Amino acid sequence: MEEKISIWQGDITQVEVDAIVNAANKSLLGGGGVDGAIHQAAGPELKEACKKLGGAETGEAKLTEGFNLPAKYVIHTVGPVYRDGKHEEDKLLESCYRSSLGIAKKHHLKSIAFPAISTGIYHYPAEEAAQIAIHTILDFLEKQTSEITVILVAFDQRTENLYRKILKNIDTEE
Ligand code: ADP
Repeated sequence: MEEKISIWQGDITQVEVDAIVNAANKSLLGGGGVDGAIHQAAGPELKEACKKLGGAETGEAKLTEGFNLPAKYVIHTVGPVYRDGKHEEDKLLESCYRSSLGIAKKHHLKSIAFPAISTGIYHYPAEEAAQIAIHTILDFLEKQTSEITVILVAFDQRTENLYRKILKNIDTEE
């Protein structure tokens, strides 16, 4: 199963896939971090497309075209702001991955790249977030018998190491 997930370190705006996922905020009108980078690279048409979406709730995901990006589409999802771990942050983060994959499946997309949602400005602890990302993706691919190829994009070495460690542990458990 794990061969369906690969890890790549770098800037998600450069990844050539059917869809990249944006860690957006509820307005879906752009922001800092990966959101800012995606809007910058996609060009102003992305913001115009986002205006028509009418925002999104935490855990939801919505689709636009990719405009000037190498990716055909952008799936905008709103990660939870991490407070203390007692405000359903885990369920909401899981919902981001699940909703994004659901949209990809619905639109017959074959490849999707995720950033480490909520682990920047939204302060989700990196290791917990990586665990949720990988387990949710594997569960989705298994239960939905989905043929989607998933790329986990790590912006820094620490995130890449975390993803590799978690996938390796899953491999040895089997
Ligand atoms: P959030 O508000 O959901 O925390 P951020 O954009 O602040 O979103 O951070 C989410 C993750 O995306 C962080 O791990 C950050 O290092 C990473 N990130 C920032 N810019 C990029 C980029 N251009 N490509 C891939 N990942 C990025």
